[in-house]
Amino acid sequence: MSDTPAKSSASSEHEELNGTYSPRPILPIKRSKLTGSSEFHVGTPLQTRVASPCTLNPPIDSDGLSWPSQGARKRIEQTPEEAEAREARIADAVKVILHELGEDVDREGLLETPERYARAMLFFTKGYEDNIRDVIKRAVFEENHDEMVIVRDIEIYSLCEHHLVPFFGKAHIAYIPNKRVLGLSKLARLAEMYARRFQVQERLTKQIAMALSEILRPRGVAVVIEATHMCMVSRGVQKTGSSTTTSCMLGCFRDHQKTREEFLTLLGRK
Ligand SMILES: [Zn+2]
Repeated sequence: MSDTPAKSSASSEHEELNGTYSPRPILPIKRSKLTGSSEFHVGTPLQTRVASPCTLNPPIDSDGLSWPSQGARKRIEQTPEEAEAREARIADAVKVILHELGEDVDREGLLETPERYARAMLFFTKGYEDNIRDVIKRAVFEENHDEMVIVRDIEIYSLCEHHLVPFFGKAHIAYIPNKRVLGLSKLARLAEMYARRFQVQERLTKQIAMALSEILRPRGVAVVIEATHMCMVSRGVQKTGSSTTTSCMLGCFRDHQKTREEFLTLLGRK
């Protein structure tokens, strides 16, 4: 998601209204960063977007990891000594940051902060190490239920990968089974697994939907996330309390308006 507010055209309109308008040279249209620099495009602009981890790889690797970070396997396989050394390296880096911010890293309040922060960051990104087989362990059941299953208000806490500050809110997950259902608490575990990473809300939404789709092969999946981003509300880009809503609809939720409407009604959005 972009953090820069849309440039307002109000000033040029204002000039026009006051009669001070003068013709301006026509500037070449700037090419969007999203569509790359290629001279000619094939298909729609959406198809020319930069590749995301969601579309490059299938949801679940052969070892059970799901869109892991580059170093996730190293973290999983590390010895206790290696884990300790990793934590110490992160803490050292945090000391540099504090020092560069003008802080006295030896004052009492900050003495253990670098180590604490290192442990916190490791916790906030632990989702990369989760194995989907452990997450859904023995909770996929054969069941003839074919009505919509919906779990609302799953609390999520994640980190914006652009600013490394939290975004948090609620996820609502629905699916229509195709002979297989997942234990309800596992939906929250799945959301947690993808939230405990560096994320953008759009990708988090999509990853939950795609993983659930892969696990259950249901007739459809819908995920809606409403979240507040600290990078927005605490920097004056948007008013405090503003929230961002993203959704991902797959299968019958995408294809059938009635199904989508039933879901939104159950969410209380219609
Ligand atoms: Zn951000």
